[in-house]
Amino acid sequence: MEIFDIFVIPFSIGMIFLFSVIIIKFAQWFMQMPKSEKRMVWKNFFSVQTLKSVWECFTECLLHLRISKKNPRLGYMHTSIAFGWFMLIVIGKFQSTAATGIWIEMPYLAIFLKYFFPVENFQYAHLYGFFMDFFLFVVLSGLVVAIAKRIRPKVAGMKRPTKHTAFDKVALVSLWAIFPLRLLAESFTSGAHQSGDFLTGSLGQFFSLFLPLDLLQYPIWWAYSLSLGVFFCVMPFSRYMHIITEIGLIFLRNWGLKTEDKLSGFANFELHSCSRCGMCIDVCQLSTAAKINTVQSVYFLRSERHHTLSRSLVNNCLMCGRCEEACPVLIKSNQHRLLTRTSPFETPEHQYSYLQPPQAPPKGGVCDVAYFAGCMTHLTPSIKLSMIRIFEKAEIRYNFIDEQQGACCGRPIVLSGAKEASQKMIAFNKSLIERSQARLLVTSCPICYKFFKENYTLNIPVMHHAEYINQLLQENKISLQQTSERYVYHDPCELGRLSGIYEQPRAILEKAGVLVHIPEEREDAFCCGGSLANTEINYAERGNIVREAIHALCAEKPDCLVTACPLCKKSFNKENVIRVKDIAEVVADGI
Ligand code: SF4
Ligand code: SF4
Repeated sequence: MEIFDIFVIPFSIGMIFLFSVIIIKFAQWFMQMPKSEKRMVWKNFFSVQTLKSVWECFTECLLHLRISKKNPRLGYMHTSIAFGWFMLIVIGKFQSTAATGIWIEMPYLAIFLKYFFPVENFQYAHLYGFFMDFFLFVVLSGLVVAIAKRIRPKVAGMKRPTKHTAFDKVALVSLWAIFPLRLLAESFTSGAHQSGDFLTGSLGQFFSLFLPLDLLQYPIWWAYSLSLGVFFCVMPFSRYMHIITEIGLIFLRNWGLKTEDKLSGFANFELHSCSRCGMCIDVCQLSTAAKINTVQSVYFLRSERHHTLSRSLVNNCLMCGRCEEACPVLIKSNQHRLLTRTSPFETPEHQYSYLQPPQAPPKGGVCDVAYFAGCMTHLTPSIKLSMIRIFEKAEIRYNFIDEQQGACCGRPIVLSGAKEASQKMIAFNKSLIERSQARLLVTSCPICYKFFKENYTLNIPVMHHAEYINQLLQENKISLQQTSERYVYHDPCELGRLSGIYEQPRAILEKAGVLVHIPEEREDAFCCGGSLANTEINYAERGNIVREAIHALCAEKPDCLVTACPLCKKSFNKENVIRVKDIAEVVADGI
């Protein structure tokens, strides 16, 4: 039997084009990786991580479990289209081998089999026919949700659709055309030959009542092939490139690669893996509270990918991490944002000349704990006074190293893009810490805490005061009198989502009073709006973000809002809605 027709050419060209572009792009990105990353790839290639990656590709690229956990309707949409299409290809391959008796054949045969074998008279034909119809039905049901989501995002549990580029739109229309055209092509052929199963067979019989299927089937097979060809040709330049790139990303990530201090070839895998699902828009307070809908990770990553980043887009972000937490592809968009930030005010050498490394140990001599309050804590003196009271009550030999001579930890200016200037602050503070000869560094600021941990390479451990106070309580160095005060706890972004400290502050508050819970806590906590990372929003927009957070925090009518960050405390206090305390103040008042 002749198993070729010219209508397969658009599909075949599209497929060859797609695979050629993917091979070239992947090779380019691999070449851009530094030697250390390439070594990591070779080292882990034959490891258990590779097996783990295969499993993750199955659960995330086909079943989309992470999306389903966060949003079951959206998950169903992705799963039905991706897994259904995958099964159509896999079963189609077995079906074509059963029909021809050949294992290796032209790829188009499995896709257009019903055209070449309109009457199924090979072994297990009915079983194959049933499963092919079943998975086509599954894909079509997902497609219905996708189309409904575009018109009314709420159908898929979303607040708003993502704005698409021209390539995205062409790819979207061709993708939406593929499966209805396949259904029609297979149904027309089934109707013309009295074959097909529960879906294509029944539909074919129905159409045969009033349509000349003999004449119509051929143009529909052409249309089906064209839609596939167009989709494959635009795919590398559209959001749908993620379908392939995410597979590469999963392997590379499990082999230990991540975006650290440079946007390397790995960063390209991250950029092209964004599916533009829009889940990062729905959780972003710039959208929900400040009504800014053009700067979220999806748009930032798209602009980075197309080299069209603007300063206002890069800097309009609180770096709160809510989008990273929501991202089903686990893209570290904040690190990309940080690395693309550059400061027009990158500080000339002489402006930090006063930051000479200190000559003498900090006041107080050798100690157990070096206490670094941080700039924001100095601007919120009740917190540092509370810490002093706690140290004294617990009889800790501490050294208040930035009481007189500290500098900013450096993170705020890194967030503004002035990375070189931050090195001077790091060197200065590092020498201060080392001269204290302390065995532990404690800070009251989550911003300093994260920066000390990740950017200072210290040889002593670092603790935020919430962790440290909890340790003092556990060691019975201090004890708290429990009251009936109802506390709600606000997780500061840098301490919670970005550093993973959730339990210790809660353990303290459970000892101090009654801890009430709200849905927006831990990973889902709102940002207080005071973030130093956003240099674009105005006072009113910040106010809306603070109010959104306070509204959620006060849902259970607590007596007191407790946080563990001087900046959050300041932001909340400005609204004057509820009594606000730092966790150190709660403890200092209760010991
Ligand atoms: S960054 Fe993540 S959450 Fe946002 S659109 Fe891309 S894949 Fe979706
Ligand atoms: S880090 Fe926060 S503010 Fe920035 S885009 Fe993500 S959710 Fe929005």
